[in-house]
Amino acid sequence: MSDDSHPVPSRRLFMTGSVLGLGSLVLAGASDAKDIPTGPTGRPQPELEQEPPLPADKQLGWAVVGLGHYAQQYVLPALGRARRSKLTALVSGNADKARTVAARHGVKTANLYGYDTLGRLAQNREVDVVYIVTPNSSHAELTVKAFEAGKHVMCEKPMANSSAECQRMIDAARAAGRKLMIAYRAHWEPHNVRAQEMRDAGALGKVWFASSDHHRPLDPSRPRDQWRVKKAIAGGGSLVDIGIYSLNGLQWLLGESPNAVSASMFSPPGDPRFTEVENVFTAELVFPSGARATISSGYTADKKRIDLWGDKLVATLDPATAYEGNRLTVSNAQKAEEVLTESSAEQFTGELDHFSQVIAEKGEVRTPGEMGLRDVRLIEALYRAASTRQWVELNADMTMKNG
Ligand code: NDP
Repeated sequence: MSDDSHPVPSRRLFMTGSVLGLGSLVLAGASDAKDIPTGPTGRPQPELEQEPPLPADKQLGWAVVGLGHYAQQYVLPALGRARRSKLTALVSGNADKARTVAARHGVKTANLYGYDTLGRLAQNREVDVVYIVTPNSSHAELTVKAFEAGKHVMCEKPMANSSAECQRMIDAARAAGRKLMIAYRAHWEPHNVRAQEMRDAGALGKVWFASSDHHRPLDPSRPRDQWRVKKAIAGGGSLVDIGIYSLNGLQWLLGESPNAVSASMFSPPGDPRFTEVENVFTAELVFPSGARATISSGYTADKKRIDLWGDKLVATLDPATAYEGNRLTVSNAQKAEEVLTESSAEQFTGELDHFSQVIAEKGEVRTPGEMGLRDVRLIEALYRAASTRQWVELNADMTMKNG
């Protein structure tokens, strides 16, 4: 299957190749200059850096569920820029907000739903895909409802708060004959993609060790952090919220999943933010090849980083999973070199259009529900390891041995 939903070079791209490409276009144009009439006139189709959107009737219609920070700041604008995807409906528990957001993004009021009326999407042929962007504890229930309405579902990370819920979501997709994707946007982020390609091609040499650290401050004065301090809603602390980027990223970048883990976690006593969920989580992962990785996550510092320690080169993504401004450098004791400087902004449209494309062309989802389940099983094993202070061994399907 062709996959043209990879991020394409943006206008902010700085790469020798595109500079050379522009130069040759300018030269070609110059030789034709004498033929251009001096008055206004039509000209041939220009070469575009970014392919134009498909005609509206070829784009898939998306309903976004939960109009919080991430949905409004990143998802809705990305749907406005996407090639194969368009926003057609909103689902919200706040009808006033939904009307305001609908007016801003051109959604008609007939296509506004509440959580209690989500099932009525079954009658709406303008909606092909439902994107769940609500707090973690509601992912499973809303996903199952969307499948019952006959829609395809993209669900935010973490997929759910337990592997049993993840399995229920996968079963619902199968029963409905629809596709399920977990929104791991780094798989469409150009620096992450390049690091994965470099490791895969052997450019880093043997990678026996990797490390990844994901930290961001937790501030319950912000509405989006209020549910993150509640275990029943968030499912856990920094590990499930941002440590999951380390877990998912390392498995992708190393091309294997761990078969044993040890872990510990810590919350400073007396801090009211951490009575239910952990602040700092650290773990060691052992892979079937023998490779090792360490991860840390935390709710104090602000840094998202991945290092792949090859015997030829160390690849460093820093930041690794930011919304914008990610960077990839390779280094050894003698030199450090930036590999790519490219906008990260189209990771969002890349992931949306990938899902629309695989639905339209009956392809394979790059980050399917099974991947989300795998990661939630790993999270369960890590919490077990941290609470028992014992190594936890994992089967190939990431269920716990003796578990
Ligand atoms: P917010 O709190 O900003 O938004 C969540 C929205 O969900 C709310 O605005 C509300 O929308 C709806 N909601 C339904 N029930 C509840 C409830 N009990 N408490 C709070 N909100 C509720 O959260 P985020 O946008 O930061 O996170 C939403 C999801 O997206 C999470 O799963 C998170 O892990 C994920 N996420 C993913 C990111 C990524 O990069 N992939 C980045 C950030 C978050 P309404 O009022 O419309 O009903």
